[in-house]
Amino acid sequence: MNLMEIFETMEYGPAPESSAPGLAWIKEHQPFGLFINNQWVKPAGGQYLDSINPATGKPLAQIAAANSADVDAAVAAARAAFGTWGKTPGHVRARYMYAIARHIQKHSRLLAVLESLDNGKPIRETRDLDIPLVARHFYYHAGWAQLMASELPGYEPVGVVGQIIPWNFPLLMLAWKIAPALAMGNTVVLKPARYTSLTALKFAEIMQEMGLPPGVVNIVTGEASQVGEALVSHPDVNKIAFTGSTDVGRSIRRATAGSGKKLSLELGGKSPFIVFDDADLDSVVEGVVDAIWFNQGQVCCAGSRLLVQEDIADCLVEKLRARMEKLRIGDPLDKAVDIGAIVSPGQLKEIQRLVNQGVEEGATMWQPSWACPTEGYFFPPTLFTNVSPATTIAQVEIFGPVLVSMTFRTPAEAVALANNTRYGLAASVWSENINLALDVAPKLKAGSVWINCTNLFDASSGFGGYRESGFGREGGKEGLYEYVRPAWEATIYSSSAALPSTNGSVPSSNGHMTDDDEMDSAAVTASDGYQATYPPIDRTPKMFIKGKQVRPDSGYSRNVYNLTGRVIGQVGEGNRKDIRNAVEAAHAASGWAAGTTHNRAQILYYSAENLAVREDEFARRIVQQTGCAYAEATSEVQTSISRLFSYAAWSDKFEGAVHRPPLRGVVLAMPEAIGVIGMACPDAYPLLGFISLIAPAIAMGNTVVVIPSQQSPLSATDCYQVLETSDLPDGVVNIVTGERDTLTQVLADHDDVDAMWYFGPAEGCKRVELASASNMKRTWVDYGHPRNWLDTVQGEGEEFLRESTQVKNIWVPYGD
Ligand code: NDP
Repeated sequence: MNLMEIFETMEYGPAPESSAPGLAWIKEHQPFGLFINNQWVKPAGGQYLDSINPATGKPLAQIAAANSADVDAAVAAARAAFGTWGKTPGHVRARYMYAIARHIQKHSRLLAVLESLDNGKPIRETRDLDIPLVARHFYYHAGWAQLMASELPGYEPVGVVGQIIPWNFPLLMLAWKIAPALAMGNTVVLKPARYTSLTALKFAEIMQEMGLPPGVVNIVTGEASQVGEALVSHPDVNKIAFTGSTDVGRSIRRATAGSGKKLSLELGGKSPFIVFDDADLDSVVEGVVDAIWFNQGQVCCAGSRLLVQEDIADCLVEKLRARMEKLRIGDPLDKAVDIGAIVSPGQLKEIQRLVNQGVEEGATMWQPSWACPTEGYFFPPTLFTNVSPATTIAQVEIFGPVLVSMTFRTPAEAVALANNTRYGLAASVWSENINLALDVAPKLKAGSVWINCTNLFDASSGFGGYRESGFGREGGKEGLYEYVRPAWEATIYSSSAALPSTNGSVPSSNGHMTDDDEMDSAAVTASDGYQATYPPIDRTPKMFIKGKQVRPDSGYSRNVYNLTGRVIGQVGEGNRKDIRNAVEAAHAASGWAAGTTHNRAQILYYSAENLAVREDEFARRIVQQTGCAYAEATSEVQTSISRLFSYAAWSDKFEGAVHRPPLRGVVLAMPEAIGVIGMACPDAYPLLGFISLIAPAIAMGNTVVVIPSQQSPLSATDCYQVLETSDLPDGVVNIVTGERDTLTQVLADHDDVDAMWYFGPAEGCKRVELASASNMKRTWVDYGHPRNWLDTVQGEGEEFLRESTQVKNIWVPYGD
């Protein structure tokens, strides 16, 4: 082709990146060993797996297939290393992490080539996005290592962390996991995905090269059934961090339930890409390319559902088809290629299966006229129109270059369609009207919202999901808390001696008040000396649902006993139906989250005021139930009042942050209410336990369904009147009394409950974690180690606020 012909057609010429350095590195090292204690070791079973180049379908390398003995060795190495790494000063850790970032940059091209060879993604993406972000993650977290002591006082590393990553961003996911873990002083055993281990192995070599202490990072390659499962169930692993499919996330939740292992899950998505009719359509088209054809659509937060305002739908679809016709598919090492290969034949088959199903379900499929390469695993960009929201392709994560498009008329309809999924990872909103975009963003159930942009990532801005997209955040300050725990937990977890004296177990009365001092009895002496004892006026606390006192559905009541076994009252015996009604009421009160923080603060202050008026009555009630000294009971009431003040104070101060990632724009990191939180209160501190849980949750805008102390529920039921007289809207707090574990199970199983807190025996904690896997609700449990609720370090503060919120990052670029 001569110059004039090229000028006429404007065809791209080939722009190949050489694979030679990558192939040479592989040849020099293979078969690859496992990286344990800074040594390359052979797998115990002597087995190896082929790693395939998806662009050719040919074997690329042989990697070790570890088994559980190798996992044991890696965990032992990490445990031994934790002894010193966990105590290494932040500044020293920061120096190591800074060195890691520098070394990543020094080897950046080799890493990019290896990633493209192993995964099939275009070199343009590995070179310009994956690897620079990997370096950025280590730089950013080097900063947190340096600042940990001053910025996270009272926190310590978790210990040995097991990390399991997928194949779609192999090195980037490694960085998202390892950087925060090391910064906070943990040691790591990481399992790369079976298909894509090469860059993790190159990373291991870099660790050796820059002299990271042995055992701090261990890389164990192999299959899920051998390595992944062994890591998840290993008794000496303190935390599991996982990215991958929702199904595997669910099984990991179940496998770790009750073990006390910390868990973060970054799972699948079906993210909406919402286009309003005033959007700049040419930018939208490029946005769609980045949303769904970037990385062949194998992106957990891919904008795979295009929601377009009806009046511009035809025009946008036409523009999209024209653009798709120009996309270039082929050799991932060609710098002019837009779409590379799908990671494996199995994944390719699954994409094809779902596309066929879309056609069978009646949607209209469109693909460009050009053909894919016949060698390797390629799939063309695909657009579905005429899609109904309930069909499989509109609901299931396809994890391929397949876009489904639907239309809407109004912003409200757009939000409803966007949220019509079990996932909640990300969303994009396109409109030239910033008022509209910023109004819609908070209404979307998604951890990241991109306004007039998409698929932007930065270490400073946390990433993670709502609902079945998982829980926990990676990146940002919020991501650090996944790798630390409060220092006081260590004392409590290692001994039960820290149990407070008033945990319901027979503290003696100091004589201020006797057991006979019944609150409702009335002795009257007449003028002639005749003494009449009136029977007490019956007070049977009922359930508190939707702001009303309602009788239990069962029609049964349960006795409440004091410590001498005497009946001191009765409460309703709640059942499944009461819980369902309470959850419904809590949902109906969701407007609470949209109210002002000032108003929430006012109501909490008002509750404190109303509780203070009845301080003596509440103290007596505590004595009556627990037998503690009156002075202790008074202290519990006063601490409860102070706690209400604390969360009234926090409600307009736990505000989030504005990040400045390296782009022209800002990211608003906003802590949002989780939704409906179910909570089972501790038996100890019947009033303070109740207040300590509901106050932070409602301060942050959640609505709650509370099961009060089973042993001593009367303090919580006495609070009805306090709440009613404090202008709390109906349904924000709902109280169901009864058997804690039966009611908890219903709440934990309920798909419309977004989080479950449980402060009770270890067995109950395990059941809550197990049940939560049904809708991946967030859980917060104490594994049977009661905290001291009177202590302000253990009983209140930011830990409670973080458990009450999830951070949404809203990306707002600016400039024309
Ligand atoms: P998986 O969730 O199966 O795998 C992710 C990682 O977990 C891999 O390292 C895998 O190991 C490991 N793993 C798998 N099962 C277990 C287990 N029981 N215990 C411990 N570790 C385990 O994803 P797939 O690779 O199979 O992809 C399937 C689907 O998952 C995709 O089609 C996509 O829908 C979704 N996915 C979502 C991702 C996301 O970022 N949200 C990323 C990848 C996939 P191994 O590689 O050896 O199997």
